[in-house]
Amino acid sequence: MNEHLLKILIVGDGNVGKSSFVHRYVNGQFNQAYKMTMGVDYSVKLLLWSDKDKVTLQIWDIAGQERFISMNRIYYKGALGCVVMFDVTNSASFLSCRHWKQDLDNKATLPDGNSIPCILLANKCDLAQRVVSGDSIDRFSKANGFVSWMEVSVKENKNVGEAMRVLVQEILTV
Ligand code: GDP
Repeated sequence: MNEHLLKILIVGDGNVGKSSFVHRYVNGQFNQAYKMTMGVDYSVKLLLWSDKDKVTLQIWDIAGQERFISMNRIYYKGALGCVVMFDVTNSASFLSCRHWKQDLDNKATLPDGNSIPCILLANKCDLAQRVVSGDSIDRFSKANGFVSWMEVSVKENKNVGEAMRVLVQEILTV
C-alpha cells in the first residue's frame, strides 16, 4: 500500500463558500450558520484511493484571513494542490481569482519549480442571481493555467466530491 499525505489549500475571497466546502467535503454536511473556528489550521480526510493507494488529505482553509489577500508563506509551504473558489453571484470574487492564482504561482511551487495544480471552482451555482458566465470562466481558466474548472454548489452538494477527485487525481499524476 502506498500512503500519500497531500496538503491542499483552499483560497478565494471571503464569503464565497470555502469553509462550507471543506465542511461539506470532510463532514458531509451543509449548515447555513456554520463558520469554521478561526485558528483551526486544517481538516483531515482519509481516502482509500485505489487497491494500492491510501491518501490522507490535509485541507487548509484560510478561515477568515482573506483580508491579508497575500497569504503567509507558511500557509503555502509543502502544498501540493489548490482550490481557487469564487461565487458566481459576485463578479468581484471572480476578478480576485487572478490575484489568488498569481500569489500561488509565486509562492507555492513544487520542488521542480512548476506551480502546483489548481482547480477553479464556481460556487453557488444553485442561485438564480448568477453574474459570471460559463464562457468567461472557461477563458479565464485556460489563460491562467488552471487544471480545469467546475461549477459547484456546496449547498446542493453538486460536484463537491467530484472536484476533489479531479484535483487529487491531478496531484497523483504530476
Ligand atoms: P468563506 O468565507 O469563503 O469560508 O464562506 P462560507 O463558507 O462562510 O460561506 C459564506 C456564505 O455562503 C454562508 O452563508 C454559506 O451558507 C453560503 N454558501 C456557501 N456555499 C453555498 C452554495 O453553494 N449556495 C448557496 N446558496 N449559499 C452558499
